[in-house]
Amino acid sequence: MQNSESVKLFDKAKQFFPGGVNSPVRAFRSVGGTPVFIDKGKGSHVWDADGNEYIDYCASWGPLILGHANDKVLNSVEKTMRNGTSFGAPTRLENELAELILTFNSYIEKIRFVSSGTEAVMSAIRLARGYTGRTKILKFEGCYHGHSDSLLVKAGSGLVTFGNTSSAGVPESVVNDTIVVSLNNKEAVEEAFKQFPDQIACIIIEPIPANNGLLLQDKAYLQFLRDICTKNKTLLIFDEVISGFRVCFCGAAGYYNIKPDIITYGKIIGGGFPVGAYGASKEIMSSISPEGNVYQAGTLSGNPVAMAAGIAQLTECLKPNFYSDLEHKTQVLIKGLTENTKHNFKIFTVGSIFWLAFTDKEHIKCAEEIDADSMKHFKILYHALLENGVYSGPSGYEVGFMSEAHTMEDIEKTIVAFDKAFAKL
Ligand SMILES: *Cc1c(COP(=O)(O)O)cnc(C)c1O
Repeated sequence: MQNSESVKLFDKAKQFFPGGVNSPVRAFRSVGGTPVFIDKGKGSHVWDADGNEYIDYCASWGPLILGHANDKVLNSVEKTMRNGTSFGAPTRLENELAELILTFNSYIEKIRFVSSGTEAVMSAIRLARGYTGRTKILKFEGCYHGHSDSLLVKAGSGLVTFGNTSSAGVPESVVNDTIVVSLNNKEAVEEAFKQFPDQIACIIIEPIPANNGLLLQDKAYLQFLRDICTKNKTLLIFDEVISGFRVCFCGAAGYYNIKPDIITYGKIIGGGFPVGAYGASKEIMSSISPEGNVYQAGTLSGNPVAMAAGIAQLTECLKPNFYSDLEHKTQVLIKGLTENTKHNFKIFTVGSIFWLAFTDKEHIKCAEEIDADSMKHFKILYHALLENGVYSGPSGYEVGFMSEAHTMEDIEKTIVAFDKAFAKL
């Protein structure tokens, strides 16, 4: 496969950016080799700087549920931007996107738009602390919540631990307020409430953990978290930056029918533009400035061009059978990949999200159950897939996404590409 242009671009990028990238996983460190520089995308396909064409299952890490350069999104963006790209004043488009979301999502009553998933989560944590007057937060090993200080924390070795920072530059004082426990572990959560009575402001979880493999939880476990939070006057935050508008319009809250206290969104909500959001009941949201005393602001928050993209994309998501069609295509792909295979792997899936793991296990429900050693197989598979025209997130811990734009022909080609790629293992 020709990649001299990507090599050249990456060499140049290394002069400008740390590691040659503006977000670490793009550097291909976990699969090795040179990142593919993308020139353009249309529908389910992307083309790289050397002219190679790929069927894309990365979808910009999830936002592009309609595929690349969707005409409805582009038309709406173009029309909007001709009237100016930012005002720092309210616009009718913010109302429109909010109304679209709140009309069809009974799990939140008010929303605030921000510019990224990280910002949404950071703000939600501040809201939980401000609302409860408590300081500590509880998170799970194997969930990702963006790169704000108090969430860049990984578990230590005990049942209930104050984590170790997973990044230099995060002060110990911050980490000391973040409790980290394993997913799918009731005892650890109960123990945390025993050790820190009336101190835990919130539990934050990806209800569909999809940033470290796909660590699907039982509904009963999510319900347990709901109940223990209610009992302890702790807020439950669902971080739905991936799952929101992905597994159904109301995200994991709707999928499991469990009502958290605060929900965060990102990715799909912006139609490929930088948008995040957090929402809750009217009462909890009344703590946010200027109504309440929890401060949160943004120069480009509710940006009209981004709102227009979000409106166009979410309007499409509301079409009848939109989510069942996505799920059906995903099932066809998975069936084609797993039926009659002689290789030792599983594909875990929910809706249009899927994750391939080299494992014998029937379920993988927490980070510790992932076999790190198996990633050596993924590396080989990854490059063989690229050579056969399939692009996905460059790490064995990343999930794949089906979009509306993927066709049955794409899926058949993908199955053939996997067959060829597996032959390299
Ligand atoms: C992507 C993601 C984030 C961070 O969002 P950014 O837009 O990258 O800042 C936070 N939480 C979850 C669950 C995510 O998947």
